[in-house]
Amino acid sequence: YFFAIFKTSLYFCAGMINSMSGEAHRPGRIEVVCGSMFSGKTEELIRRLKRAEFARQKVEIFKPAIDTRYSDADVVSHDLHSIPCTPVDTSSSILLLSSDIDVVGIDEAQFFDEGLVAVCNELANRGVRVIVAGLDMDFRGVPFGPIPALCAIADEVAKVHAICVRCGALAYVSHRLVPGGKRVMLGEQGEYEPLCRECYRKAVEEERAQGHG
Ligand code: ZN
Repeated sequence: YFFAIFKTSLYFCAGMINSMSGEAHRPGRIEVVCGSMFSGKTEELIRRLKRAEFARQKVEIFKPAIDTRYSDADVVSHDLHSIPCTPVDTSSSILLLSSDIDVVGIDEAQFFDEGLVAVCNELANRGVRVIVAGLDMDFRGVPFGPIPALCAIADEVAKVHAICVRCGALAYVSHRLVPGGKRVMLGEQGEYEPLCRECYRKAVEEERAQGHG
């Protein structure tokens, strides 16, 4: 019994010393930045990570190895404002590679396996700040990969929007311009256009009238 009290007060003192030395307790959390293509998701991820890096926090970024549009070692947003990044094959690799990291960024998260949800939870439980960026829906308006589940367990969700190329309203989906039903087709400018709900509905109707889609 005495030992228990002694241990408790020892922990209490250790906690006081920690806060006195200025080492703030950082609880883990999950932040999701999602939206259509051309909505600035990756730019927002990079902004948050650069800010953490400036505060001397250890930052690491992961993306699925499938995304080979740009250089292998960089996460590159469309404005070519880049920070170093590690491509990984599966979500479980992120756990193995992020020991001793304060802030973990994950880009193009929609292409990861469903295991990413448990990985993000585990990291947050360890006290890591996890920032996930990804497409909320595919080009058919269907929730994409692990993103919906990540939104559900996240501490904070930011939905970012592109501008509808037809009417100027806020876009909600990335409409595919080339025919083909393959979902894991990576976005290049020209293959997709951001559309609002109304313009998307019209576009789908037009395609049906023309005999495809
Ligand atoms: Zn529109």
